[in-house]
Amino acid sequence: MRSLRALSLDLDDTLWPIEPAIAAAEATLHDWLLARLPAVAAAWPPPAMRELRARIARHCPEIAHDFSAQRRLSLAHALRACGSDEAQAEPAFEVFFCARNRVALYEDALPALTRLSALLPLASLSNGNADLARIGIDAHFAVQVSAREAGVAKPDARIFSALCQRLHCAPAQVLHVGDDPLLDVAGARDAGLQAAWLNRAGGDWPGPGAAPALVFRDLGELADWCAARLGAD
Ligand SMILES: [Mg+2]
Repeated sequence: MRSLRALSLDLDDTLWPIEPAIAAAEATLHDWLLARLPAVAAAWPPPAMRELRARIARHCPEIAHDFSAQRRLSLAHALRACGSDEAQAEPAFEVFFCARNRVALYEDALPALTRLSALLPLASLSNGNADLARIGIDAHFAVQVSAREAGVAKPDARIFSALCQRLHCAPAQVLHVGDDPLLDVAGARDAGLQAAWLNRAGGDWPGPGAAPALVFRDLGELADWCAARLGAD
């Protein structure tokens, strides 16, 4: 059996559902703009702001891995287009970012983090820009790696290499778990890590490649598996 020395977890849609948090953050930002910069709010309602961010991401590949930079640039562009003070981009970003981190953890997440972090070093590995300290769960993680800091995003093997270096582990000693078949499972597998799919919806494996040997319905199942594997709980 392969040795297991550390566990890496994806964040968005693994520890919490991301779409409701983003939608709420967009609405919060819109309310803030309505109160302070109504012309900007009228010109850039949430769907337009979302499309603008996507357009900026396509046109600026150098920040494809950095959602915070994309949001800041979007806000600066929206303000400039309305003749408003671009300096408002930073407080506007802070309003969005604060709301984006008000996530609702899946029910199984916190009990599993408590059990898992007592068993072995935990790492977070995310393409998103969540702030674990703001969310209040950073104490469970020995290491945090984001695409923003690493300069590349999953499934690029380099971000998995950076993770293993931070953990002082060989890739084969690390199990990465996440919801995304390509970004998490295929990415980790191609970089030489052990990989597990978090399949909350219970769907069929869509690829790429063969289904992983390890599939969990929730993080409680993952904690059970790790406890049995490591002979403790
Ligand atoms: Mg995810």
